Amino acid sequence: MSHDQLPTDQPAVVTCGLPYANGNLHVGHLRTYVAGDLYSRALRRVGQQTAFVCGSDMHGTPVAVNAAEEGVEPREFALEFHEQYKERFPQFNIEFDNYGHTDDETNTELTQEFVEHWIDNEHIVEKEIEVAWDAEIEEPLPDRYVEGTCPYCGEKARGDECDEGCQRHLEPGEIENPRSVTTGNPAEYRTREHKFLRLSDFQEYLQGFLDRLEGTENARNQPREWIEGTLEDLCITRDMDWGVDYPGEDRDDLVLYVWVDAPIEYVASTKQYAEHTDDYDWEQVWKIDGEENHGTAWDDTWTDQSGEIVHIIGRDIIQHHCVFWPAMLRGAGYNEPRSVLATGFVGIDGKALSTSRNRAVWAEEYLDEGFHPDLFRYYITTGSGLENDVDFSWDRFAERVNGELVGNIGNFCYRALLFAQRNYDGTPDADVSKEVSERIEESIERFETAVAEYDIRELGQIAVDLADFGNEYIQRHEPWNLVDDDPEQASQVIRDCVQLTKACALLMQPVMPEKAATIWEQLGEEGSVSEPELDAALAAPPAEFGEPEELFTKVEDETIEELNQKLRDRVATASEAEEDGESDEESDGAAEEDTDHVDLPALEDGRIGFEEFQDIDMRVGEIVEAEPIEDADELVLLTVDIGIDQRQVVAGLKQLHDVDELPGTRVVLLANMEKAELFGHESNGMVLAAGEQADLLTTHEDSALGTRIK
Ligand SMILES: [Zn+2]
Repeated sequence: MSHDQLPTDQPAVVTCGLPYANGNLHVGHLRTYVAGDLYSRALRRVGQQTAFVCGSDMHGTPVAVNAAEEGVEPREFALEFHEQYKERFPQFNIEFDNYGHTDDETNTELTQEFVEHWIDNEHIVEKEIEVAWDAEIEEPLPDRYVEGTCPYCGEKARGDECDEGCQRHLEPGEIENPRSVTTGNPAEYRTREHKFLRLSDFQEYLQGFLDRLEGTENARNQPREWIEGTLEDLCITRDMDWGVDYPGEDRDDLVLYVWVDAPIEYVASTKQYAEHTDDYDWEQVWKIDGEENHGTAWDDTWTDQSGEIVHIIGRDIIQHHCVFWPAMLRGAGYNEPRSVLATGFVGIDGKALSTSRNRAVWAEEYLDEGFHPDLFRYYITTGSGLENDVDFSWDRFAERVNGELVGNIGNFCYRALLFAQRNYDGTPDADVSKEVSERIEESIERFETAVAEYDIRELGQIAVDLADFGNEYIQRHEPWNLVDDDPEQASQVIRDCVQLTKACALLMQPVMPEKAATIWEQLGEEGSVSEPELDAALAAPPAEFGEPEELFTKVEDETIEELNQKLRDRVATASEAEEDGESDEESDGAAEEDTDHVDLPALEDGRIGFEEFQDIDMRVGEIVEAEPIEDADELVLLTVDIGIDQRQVVAGLKQLHDVDELPGTRVVLLANMEKAELFGHESNGMVLAAGEQADLLTTHEDSALGTRIK
């Protein structure tokens, strides 16, 4: 059995992975929250009742370790960041309906209730385990207090997570060569008694759950490997003071593991939202059949009766959301997630984002530059599919803002509204052409499909594509020539363009909510652009409106050069500091380059689909001419025959190859590479070569010139 297609008539909740309240937010963090905000707006746009909730993760060792370093209490430390996030998210137009935190009363009570249900339902066992201990200071070393080697892949790992290697969750006692993060002392193992959630109770259930689960491929497929064989029990308690107290009376010395109370905040935050909203039933969303139902057993007849739960998370916490979390919910009589969307990592200028090396673009920094939040939202959601890694580069940011936003959608809406206002004081009295209304209908369908398929990138792109059509439509009809010659035709063309502008506003609202509101206002529309359903894109815009203003401003080259320089300086300073041993901060997001293997960059974690590969047009070619380019140490000007075409290509090949011997060489040419100009020569394609020395790739048999590489 599978889920009904979205939208449904059940209430939905969209959540984002909770940010640890222990540091400033950077563009890597923001990707997940922008995606969540976009998707919840899109769901509402298609008529689904939706709550968008989140909260700060206050507990756990990441907070406790950092607070201890600063010499403050964990609560005080975490609350400061909590307040900061609460202000920061809306500055990026990320508008949660409720933003709580895991240390508040609602979450504490609910968490203890969950655990009591597990105890009642006999899913909890007590076991003796070995836990890491700092013998010198007589302190236990839970989770991130300890680091060492991952027993599965051998990479450096934290106590509870192989963050730089295989991404597995690690149970207490599993990490090898443990040492204390705070004192550097080698840790010893001591025997302690802890509480465990017996995951094997849910083995069969989880199989069925994963078969039903929707969302990104990585979230649906990776967990299959983790639930093969007998599931290990999950240790749910820690020897710590900071956290939610374990509710069982027998062990009041323990607190709950942070990954118990953290996801329960999704439920708590929804409950808080419902408390100040009349018509939102949180129990209908979260509880099975919307009622008290905390039975121990379930049958296989899963029915699609409850609300729609959509989690958007970083891909490093897939196991928590697709294995532990559904078992936790099920064991307490709660509904399961319908879908999990796991985002790829964000790199900076082609390298891993690293806070310790200061190779990061900070949320605050972006805003301080005066950039509009909607530009970032568009850039980060449409650069790549959600589950792929994306690279943040100021150059690419400027290129896309200037090309796609200023040059395309901004230009189209401004031209359309200005022409309409000057010649007709608003929308001309004419019917929309069939071509344009069909085009708008097509965009609406694309939008609806993208919602049903959780295609965040597509949702961000539709309005810009429609504006692209609009620009082409204006060029094709040249209304400025028609005004005198054929006034009837002129008013129809302009009516079309105003209609397209209105459709753009409605379709772009999830990704660029503030810019959409500006167009809505310029059109003289009443109410908020977020209210109407998609069909409104075909309804007539107001007959009168005022003179429009341009939507976007060009990002100047000098600004980008300054930002690049600033980033380079910062990375250089941080690297020096690191060499001096001043910084021992962790990297986050993508695994950092391992300095022991500087010769080989790490393998890309993100996989691409075959469809994406098909976008790469590579052909068998033969170099027919080659001449060195003067003043360029390495560059050669090539003519490459690819059967159907001869291409001029500039390539850096002089390091390894003798220019005179190049003609006659079989090569592989990337034929749909963007054209570039290098040293005054156009380069129309790219020959593939390996490494810094540019060792040319070739074929070994006689494939015909122009044969496609696949
Ligand atoms: Zn590992």
